[in-house]
Amino acid sequence: MDQREPSLLVLLDKERKEKMNNSLFTEIDESFICENCGKKVEKLGYSCRNHCPYCLHSKHVDKNPGDRQEDCHGVLEPIGLEIDSKKGYVIVFKCKKCGMIRKNKAAKDDDMDEIIKLSVAKV
Ligand SMILES: [Zn+2]
Ligand SMILES: [Zn+2]
Repeated sequence: MDQREPSLLVLLDKERKEKMNNSLFTEIDESFICENCGKKVEKLGYSCRNHCPYCLHSKHVDKNPGDRQEDCHGVLEPIGLEIDSKKGYVIVFKCKKCGMIRKNKAAKDDDMDEIIKLSVAKV
């Protein structure tokens, strides 16, 4: 068994992980508290989380997807559903504050009942 400097390796590994965590913190996939239903929404992990999986509401914070450059910060209300042959379910949102229409791909942990409600709501 080779026991050379295990503590140093552990330390380096810890440092590396901390750096990774720090950089993740500024990434766009982040946990947040939903302003509509008040539930804590965890990070999505595989893509950027852009809406609440429980009530499907989102927040108007992007000018372009993921850039967080929008100053509106209004609540994006889901108003409809589109089915895209490549992306799958695409939720159509309308900003309650400025009226902007946004579209976001549904996430795999979105509440399926809410998705179905949206698809029915669409005329
Ligand atoms: Zn919500
Ligand atoms: Zn807005």
